Amino acid sequence: MEDRNTPQEIQGTAGKFLIRHKSILDATSKMQEYCARINRAIAKAVTCCGCIKIDADKQCLPPDVSYSDIRTFMQSHMDGKLCDNCRDTISHEIGTTVFYLAALCNLLELDLDTVIREENERIRTLGIYSLK
Ligand SMILES: [Zn+2]
Repeated sequence: MEDRNTPQEIQGTAGKFLIRHKSILDATSKMQEYCARINRAIAKAVTCCGCIKIDADKQCLPPDVSYSDIRTFMQSHMDGKLCDNCRDTISHEIGTTVFYLAALCNLLELDLDTVIREENERIRTLGIYSLK
């Protein structure tokens, strides 16, 4: 069965349905708005629902830690697990952000699938230190 949810399909859908927000200014600002909504939904999961809790302090790595062991020392600073309601809300906000990202790629004539593949390959090749 054909996969209708690939980055290319999402980019095609964004091209068909984005009429009101065709300006690149709309696409960039809507994407930023939904990134903020992801942060807001996470904050509400902590402060309103309480299904997750944030307990943060300084990340401490032993000075001689090897690259392959870094993962075992890094903390997520998050306790608990998203409830179904918060999971649905955050998932929706992430999905909408991806939709506007696809729209932005359309406007800039970039292929989202290629962008994802190239980024994945870059991280695989250069490792976590390539992330800013
Ligand atoms: Zn929740």
